[in-house]
Amino acid sequence: MSYQVNEKGYYGDFGGAYIPEMLYPNVEELRTQYLDIMNDPSFKEEFDQLLKDYVGRPSPLYFAKRLSEKHNTKVYLKREDLNHTGAHKVNNTIGQILVAKKLGKNRIIAETGAGQHGVATATVCALMGIQCVVYMGEIDIKRQAPNVARMKMLGAEVRPAKSGSKTLKDATNEAIRDWINNPVDTHYIIGSAIGPHPYPDMVTRFQSVISEEIKWQLKEKEGRENPDYVVACIGGGSNAAGTYYHFLDEPSVGIIAVEAAGKGVDSGESAATSQLGKEGIIHGCKTLLMQTADGQITEPYSISAGLDYPGVGPLHSHLYRTGRGEFYSVTDDDAMAAGLELSQLEGIIPAIETSHALAIFNDKKFKPEDVVVISLSGRGDKDLNTYIDYFRL
Ligand SMILES: *Cc1c(COP(=O)(O)O)cnc(C)c1O
Repeated sequence: MSYQVNEKGYYGDFGGAYIPEMLYPNVEELRTQYLDIMNDPSFKEEFDQLLKDYVGRPSPLYFAKRLSEKHNTKVYLKREDLNHTGAHKVNNTIGQILVAKKLGKNRIIAETGAGQHGVATATVCALMGIQCVVYMGEIDIKRQAPNVARMKMLGAEVRPAKSGSKTLKDATNEAIRDWINNPVDTHYIIGSAIGPHPYPDMVTRFQSVISEEIKWQLKEKEGRENPDYVVACIGGGSNAAGTYYHFLDEPSVGIIAVEAAGKGVDSGESAATSQLGKEGIIHGCKTLLMQTADGQITEPYSISAGLDYPGVGPLHSHLYRTGRGEFYSVTDDDAMAAGLELSQLEGIIPAIETSHALAIFNDKKFKPEDVVVISLSGRGDKDLNTYIDYFRL
């Protein structure tokens, strides 16, 4: 069984590039060049340097002593929350802005839902002095005012998507339209392990620095490179893909994916794609997707804005279908409780997305000698108001 993308851009049954004809030249340019660019020594040098000096990598692998005692197993936290901008997303935007430069592009577009990817994109555009346009649903602009302000402060232009439900998928449509109209000078930075091939593979490779570091860090701490389990939350699946990457072909490493069950998998208000999804096309790839009987995308729900996505990346659909990954879904309530628990046991306030991964201990019993590495994908500062309202702090 292969967990790598094949030449046609598929992971098993999932992936590919389902794009309008007019987008073909842009995607084809990227597809034919991304591996050569990423393997170029001068690219690697600049990428590694920025990850070190700008992002602050390597991120620590922290042995969570009190959390481990509580759950009677050995828990390590991979501290992506300590990255510049507070989450893993910047690993990808740094990589893609360097690819854009190598392709001779001088303008960046992106779409964002909660605004986190927009901020990570605006950040690297400021760093490189490149023009940045971020599409965002009009409703999301109202809901996520602090992130809109951050993007503006960083010099990006935030363009409202006013059609349809005025949320993420409408912003995506606007970004695609922009790219079709500006095929020569513009690169489109997609923010998760989704999109038409080669995006899922490219994003996964940029995020794979996470599992690359886990290997040597665990070797130092435990005398072995492979943990027994790696655990991550899944929105589109980029922090998860990066956390799993170097363990995909190591059968002794269990892969655990945690999705957002919202108010419950069967409540009609959830984002538990592996449980509820069927094969469909979203964002230019074939993957599991929450949809109605006649193929309309269902509006997802999660208390966490970053997991509020109706699909998952094609790698994850493949991991689910082949049984390589164990998939769990965690409700809003269980995630919030796990976020509070980490805060009070370890002094780390996690992003609510991450809190979903931390709730794994409700569903899965680990052995005392198991080494469990959890991706701490982001910090909770951005979510403080949601925590305040929920716990009446
Ligand atoms: C965006 C985000 C996620 C979800 O995105 P993935 O692509 O699934 O990783 C998870 N955690 C945090 C902190 C985020 O900002």
